[in-house]
Amino acid sequence: MAKCSICGEEAVYCARYEGRCYCKEHFIRWFESRLRKTIRKFNFFGKKEHIIVAVSGGKDSLAALYYLSKLSKKVPGWKITALLIDEGIEGYRNVTKEDFMRIVSQLGVDYHIVELKREVGLSLDEMVSLSKERGLPYRPCTFCGVMRRYYLNYYGKKLGGTVLVTAHNLDDVVQTFLLDIFRGDVKKIPRLGPVTGVSQHEGFIKRVKLFYEVPEKEVALYSILVGVYPQTFVECPYARLSPRWKIREFLNNMEEQYPGTKYALLRSLLSLVRSLTSEERPMKCVVCGEPSSTPICRTCQLKIELGILEHEPLPPPSQGSGEHQRNKTTSEGSPSREG
Ligand code: SF4
Ligand code: ZN
Repeated sequence: MAKCSICGEEAVYCARYEGRCYCKEHFIRWFESRLRKTIRKFNFFGKKEHIIVAVSGGKDSLAALYYLSKLSKKVPGWKITALLIDEGIEGYRNVTKEDFMRIVSQLGVDYHIVELKREVGLSLDEMVSLSKERGLPYRPCTFCGVMRRYYLNYYGKKLGGTVLVTAHNLDDVVQTFLLDIFRGDVKKIPRLGPVTGVSQHEGFIKRVKLFYEVPEKEVALYSILVGVYPQTFVECPYARLSPRWKIREFLNNMEEQYPGTKYALLRSLLSLVRSLTSEERPMKCVVCGEPSSTPICRTCQLKIELGILEHEPLPPPSQGSGEHQRNKTTSEGSPSREG
């Protein structure tokens, strides 16, 4: 049995990439001190913030909520609100919502729930069926990822938030990095930085990825050790339809054989994010007024294609510009631990 490299007690975790092991107490300390370093390094928060935490009821987002609510007790200028987007995925979101309710009441934090069914008129399950009926080329994660991103931004601002925290971890980030490369979608890479949002357009709330430098399995262990791990483990029924699953397996195998692979990818990503300036020039969606990189935002485009939103066709593009074409990409939304 491995021993803690600090106190010699029985270890609960060994970080192979740094050759050290930790007991329960020292794991929690080590984990939280790394989060503090990430927060300082990327300048996530100021002294006065209304922090909106995107919470799904999964282990990562509950761990993020737990840690930030703990930290906020030491920072008098912080207010924390948990925001849950209920997409309407039968057998999944209704279950994780129970864990969400349990933990927000345990921590005593304010919360807000947004139901896609109320906002869009259809639950995600209904959108998936309608999309099949209409022969649209999208996977469920496309609707989910696009709309969740949209409503997190919309309600993050509406609730008076100054910063939106998502629980994306190191694994999520490097998986998306590889997916973008495999799809030739290099222009999306700047979105994978630790801080995005407001610098691109004033209609975006500042977004930060709290677990940017922490592997998924360490977030999972932290959530178990601090008592916020979900009581029932459920997986989204659509998750395995996404190519992300293959990338995930591939990266985990690489990490097993070559410890440190994920951090090496993160370093490459960070230097690319620094050198690539975003080619996206956000403007206002002509339908809903929210920020968008195309004249009609992706959420409104999907609603139009589902036949639940009517909009006059846009005028033809000016010469040399392809911008007014409807973006009919078949690319996948990002299934994530927000989800
Ligand atoms: Fe949404 Fe995640 Fe499920 Fe995909 S896997 S449908 S992104 S919750
Ligand atoms: Zn729009």
